[in-house]
Amino acid sequence: MRLTFLGAAGTVTGSKYLLEGGGSRILIDCGLFQGLKELRLRNWEAPPVDPRTLDAVVLTHAHLDHSGYLPRLVREGFKGPVWCTPGTRDLAHILLPDSAHLQDEDARFANKRGFSKHRPALPLYTPADAEAALALFQTVAYDEVIEIGGLRIRMTPSGHMLGSACVRVEDEHTNIVFTGDVGRPDDLLFAPPRPLHDVRNLVVESTYGDRRHSPSDPSAELADVVRRVVGRGGVVMIPAFAVGRSQQILLQLARLRAAGEIPDVPVFLNSPMAIDAMQVFLEHPAEHRLTPADCEAMRHAAAWVRTPEESKKLNLRQDPMILLAGSGMMTGGRILHHLKAFGPDPRNALLLVGYQAAGTRGQALDNGAEEVKIHGEYVPIRAERVRIDGLSGHADYAELCQWLRSVEPAPRRVFVTHGDPAASDAFRRHLRDRLGWEATIPRHGEHADVS
Ligand SMILES: [Zn+2]
Repeated sequence: MRLTFLGAAGTVTGSKYLLEGGGSRILIDCGLFQGLKELRLRNWEAPPVDPRTLDAVVLTHAHLDHSGYLPRLVREGFKGPVWCTPGTRDLAHILLPDSAHLQDEDARFANKRGFSKHRPALPLYTPADAEAALALFQTVAYDEVIEIGGLRIRMTPSGHMLGSACVRVEDEHTNIVFTGDVGRPDDLLFAPPRPLHDVRNLVVESTYGDRRHSPSDPSAELADVVRRVVGRGGVVMIPAFAVGRSQQILLQLARLRAAGEIPDVPVFLNSPMAIDAMQVFLEHPAEHRLTPADCEAMRHAAAWVRTPEESKKLNLRQDPMILLAGSGMMTGGRILHHLKAFGPDPRNALLLVGYQAAGTRGQALDNGAEEVKIHGEYVPIRAERVRIDGLSGHADYAELCQWLRSVEPAPRRVFVTHGDPAASDAFRRHLRDRLGWEATIPRHGEHADVS
């Protein structure tokens, strides 16, 4: 089989791996590049592979950095099936139209304010492109085998989010496993990633390849922040991925409130997507570990905010409250309006609960930036910044290494992807020191023959 790294090589976003073998060409993941401008511009280049020559796309999970390029691929001529788990399909039905809507909005906003270099600014894709992509989705359950030409494909749970999977591809000679994003051994929402066996070639993520999550209890840290900020009359802003982290935080908040650990202040879930994602959770009880009581608690943990008008009204409130809104790395979405309104006041706090990729506002703020550019204007940010790593949906390097111990003997080839360069390199060293594996970090566009 021949593998080409078309994304998430030397960076976290844009996951895309072209695999050729058994007479077929398939793309594993079809993600959007996010963060640094230099990366985002890649979304606008001609597709790295002629979409008409692809037999299928296989998705590890629905997050946009793994699925968000699909509408563009379809717009450029892809017509084959997009294989994924039922959970991933249902979440993609929420995420892709929203992504298209954001692309449209960004283009329209740029035209109105005239801050784009392109006149008129065009969207990367439209809601119609997203619909066309969704029409190609086909589902496969965990452990079921699909055949694409001479390739056999099977998915196993990866514990990262609803429907997330490790993808195993075999031909008659060899096999390769793509981990996708790997969750934690003790996640509140999801069962641990299923151990892997008999792996000849491995493509493994390294988001937290150089970090350990704090051993302290994230729920105690969350309670601490809420008490402190509410105590001084402030607002807690939580930018969160609509799918996964939002549900987890709601459940934590519900439990903390029930236990009297946090004051009873209003909580707003200002994300139609996160609200819809909650529905998907309820429809897929086998794909998470929440009890019906947990689901109820989660549903009632916050007031739901759907319309833009209601969202704007929140910015006029003076009293302490907790606001959850997307996007998780503040690259767009309603959180930006809250950041504009509440960021300049030092009584407020910005609580970061997920990974912040290089070049995003989230990373800049995490690193202490005193102002950020929002919709073409600089906004001073004096709100306290707090990061709680323990709420992450990604395993840290020690957890990844522990999970990979079940792979015996060592894979012939190991490729470390989906990490910033320092994280990927640190993880390469951890694999050598802890497991005795030699791994490589592929460059963008690099080919590898796997046997
Ligand atoms: Zn993910």
